[in-house]
Amino acid sequence: MSESIDVLIIGAGTAGTYLGWILAKKGHSVKIIEKDKREDVGNRLDVIHFESDRVKKAGLPPFNPEDPDCIEIRDTSTVITPDFETEIKTRALLSIVRLTPFLNKMYKILESDGVQLEFSTKFESLIFQENKIVGIKATKNGEMKEYYAKLIVDASGTKAVVRTSLPKDYGVETFSLGPYDVMYVLLQYIKWTKPNLPHPERDTNYIYWILWFGPSLSEDEAILGVGQPGSYENARLAREDFLNQIDLPPYEVIKKERGFTPYRRPPYSLVADGFLCIGDAAAVTYPFSGHGVTATWMLCMIAAEIIDRELQKGGYLTRERLWDINVEYFRDQGAKFAGLLTQLSGILNFSKKEWNYFLKKGLIYKTGEDDELPEPNKEYEQEMSLGEMMGFIMKILWGLITRKLSLKNIRKLLKANSLANKIKVHYEKFPESPEDFESWVDKAEKLWSQKKPAIKKLSTVEITYK
Ligand SMILES: Cc1cc2nc3c(=O)[nH]c(=O)nc-3n(C[C@H](O)[C@H](O)[C@H](O)COP(=O)(O)OP(=O)(O)OC[C@H]3O[C@@H](n4cnc5c(N)ncnc54)[C@H](O)[C@@H]3O)c2cc1C
Repeated sequence: MSESIDVLIIGAGTAGTYLGWILAKKGHSVKIIEKDKREDVGNRLDVIHFESDRVKKAGLPPFNPEDPDCIEIRDTSTVITPDFETEIKTRALLSIVRLTPFLNKMYKILESDGVQLEFSTKFESLIFQENKIVGIKATKNGEMKEYYAKLIVDASGTKAVVRTSLPKDYGVETFSLGPYDVMYVLLQYIKWTKPNLPHPERDTNYIYWILWFGPSLSEDEAILGVGQPGSYENARLAREDFLNQIDLPPYEVIKKERGFTPYRRPPYSLVADGFLCIGDAAAVTYPFSGHGVTATWMLCMIAAEIIDRELQKGGYLTRERLWDINVEYFRDQGAKFAGLLTQLSGILNFSKKEWNYFLKKGLIYKTGEDDELPEPNKEYEQEMSLGEMMGFIMKILWGLITRKLSLKNIRKLLKANSLANKIKVHYEKFPESPEDFESWVDKAEKLWSQKKPAIKKLSTVEITYK
């Protein structure tokens, strides 16, 4: 049995669903195949956070806390210093969503817009003609089926089942995610058994441990989350270090979830002949939070415009014809994320004492005057005026003089910042056409090789961030 469509997407998670939807709305025939059953997709995670401004930009129907897929819409978040003395309020526009009900709501919308969804259908292998991808083979109920399409999209999540099966010389890197390419996340859904006793309020972050109390299903509940690279054990030990130091009221653990989220640069090219990768399959996540959902929607918006333009012209979608997806993505969000990922390698070296100083002096989060919370930095980059820059430098100098900051770590921070800037500028010059790609990659490789690992020493474990 075989079928032919414009675009075939593998994976009906948040990435594949969104791209399929916006392409169908542009009038193209789209099929999404998904290995799980319809009602099971997404149930690896229950509660998930979406950046509200990006939800709006992506043109999704607004969330409503009265609906089964939305718990709450928030606009503030709290950061606590590692000595537990200071609380910093930040503006964070987040929609707190339940993943499986959200996906099921989207599936109905997609179907009414003409997307064909096929569940319990597993991608097995690619089909080539004259060394170019033209389709895939998939199994459904033990039967092998062939699907032909002008474009195959890998939206299969962290396994990247299609991208990792590409021939090595096809034009997109085939790496799999190793232990230091991801953040291992442990979530405990907890219930405060004496809710009247003071406890961390909803959405409180202890960023020194990369640990948080997120909103959960009711007022007396929270999600205790922690994320670290290397192993789940590292994440568990970081949580243990935190719990040894904080005085929390009693709670019971109702449910546990775990998983990992990409924490590395995406492949240098997201496209090849008849091929595109998006979402976790392309390692597109916000470097500072590990969130991936709305980050990839921004890539999908770019991709849909270019795919639409090229499908209208007719013919096979070659690497050259899809190339603008790389150019538009990497010169903008891709460049910012590459810079931020590099900056993190400077920040993650800080000791507990240094985190206290940086947070209290407003060097990481601008805290605003007179309780006025600053607007979030929507483009995820810090623009500093000359005055702010001077203030920043003075505070660093003061931290050095009073020995609250170490010269060694400040040097590392400055080096990481300088490299971050170079990497960002390099991505902003992503080559207009594939001819200049090889030399661009050579330089990118040299820059990334200068990124130094950061090390955090907790009482329970030493964690390396590569
Ligand atoms: C614990 C944890 C908490 C997180 N919290 C947040 C958060 O709050 N906010 C946020 O934005 N991000 C969060 N993330 C990251 C987020 O979950 C991912 O970035 C996002 O889900 C990626 O979407 P995706 O569609 O690319 O992949 P997925 O959601 O993994 O979807 C891929 C789909 O492809 C299917 N598939 C795989 N192989 C095949 C195959 N062979 N054939 C057919 N189908 C296949 C899978 O079954 C799956 O349904 C979190 C991650 C973890 C682990």
